[in-house]
Amino acid sequence: MNILDLEFKELENFIKEAGQPGFRASQLYGWIAKGVTEPEDMRNVPKAFWETEGLKELRAELPDVVTTQHSEDGTVKCLLRMKDGCSVEAVFMKYKYGNSICISSQAGCRMGCAFCASGMNGLERDLTPGEMYGEILAVEKETGEKISHIVVMGTGEPFDNYENLSKFIRIINDPKGRNLGMRNITVSTCGLVPVIERFGDDFPQVNLAISLHAADSRERSEIMPVNRAYPLEELIEACRRYTEKTGRRITFEYTLIKDVNDDKKHLDKLSDLLKGMLCHVNLIPLNEVKEKSFRSGTRERAQEFRDALENRGIPATVRRELGSDIDAACGQLRAKK
Ligand code: SAH
Repeated sequence: MNILDLEFKELENFIKEAGQPGFRASQLYGWIAKGVTEPEDMRNVPKAFWETEGLKELRAELPDVVTTQHSEDGTVKCLLRMKDGCSVEAVFMKYKYGNSICISSQAGCRMGCAFCASGMNGLERDLTPGEMYGEILAVEKETGEKISHIVVMGTGEPFDNYENLSKFIRIINDPKGRNLGMRNITVSTCGLVPVIERFGDDFPQVNLAISLHAADSRERSEIMPVNRAYPLEELIEACRRYTEKTGRRITFEYTLIKDVNDDKKHLDKLSDLLKGMLCHVNLIPLNEVKEKSFRSGTRERAQEFRDALENRGIPATVRRELGSDIDAACGQLRAKK
C-alpha cells in the first residue's frame, strides 16, 4: 500500500486498525511532505511501527527516475517509471514566482488531438493520486529544488481521470501534509463538459485552463475529436457557468498552427466567441511533432494575435516556450524510452 495514495483520514484509520496510535499518521504525512520517504529517515517513527502486523506493506513509494534531461533555459524533464513499469514524463520549470512542475495525469491519452504527441499511442492507463504526488517528490529529489506550483498539463486528460485527480488535489492541499494552496494548482482540460461543472463545485479555487485551439466548432472537431462529443457551444456555455459560479478567470489555451487557425478570420471568430467573458488567452506557438504535418507559425504572428486580442479587450499572452530543445514543451511529451 502506497501512503502517497491515501488521504489523511484513510491513513489514520489504517494505522489505528493495526493497533498503532493515530498521531503516527501526522508524522508520516509531515515527513513525506518534506520529501522524506524512507522509514529509517523518519526519525520519530520507531522501527517497530513499520513491523506491526498490518503495516508491513505500508510504504511511501516514489517512481524511479529513468532519465533526466536539462534544457538550456533551466527546464528539466524527467522520465519516471512506475512500479508496474509504465512510464510518464514530468517537467520542472523555473519562474520568477517560484518553481513549477508540469505533471502527467495518465500514461498516454485517449483524446487524440491531431497536433499532440502524447496521444499517439492511445491510453495506457490512469495514474493514481499517489503516482501524481510521486512525480512531484521524485522531481524535487532529482533537482534538489522545492516546488511551489503545479500544473496538470503533462501527458493525459486530467478530467478523464477525475476521481484520482481530485483525490490527488485533496492530498497535496492537506495542511497536515504538503499544504499546497489551491491557487497554486492549475488543471488543463481539452473540454470534458460535465466534468468542468463538477470541478467548479469541488475546487472553485483551483485554476482552470481550457484547451480551445479553434473558435469554430467544425474546425475544432477536425483537430480535437473531443469536440464531436462536446461541441464548442456547449463548452463555452459550461465555461460561462463556471466563471459565474466561481468568480474565477478561465485561461483559454490556443495553440497557433500555421494555416489552420492563425489567420484574420480565426482571430475575429476567437474574439467574438470570448468577448465579455472573464478569461485570459494563452497563445502557444505550435511545437512541431515529427510524425505530424502541422507547422508552427512565427513568433511575430503570435505577437500580432496577442496585440489584436488585447485591442479588442481580451487579455492575452504568448506562452514562453520552455524546454523545447529537450522535447519538453507543450504537446511534446511521449515517454520515449
Ligand atoms: N489534456 C489536457 C492536458 C494537456 S495540456 C488538455 O488538453 O488541456 C497540454 C497543452 O498543450 C494543451 O493545451 C494542448 O492542447 C497543448 N498542445 C498539445 N500539442 C501541442 C503542440 N504540438 N504544440 C503546442 N501545444 C500543444
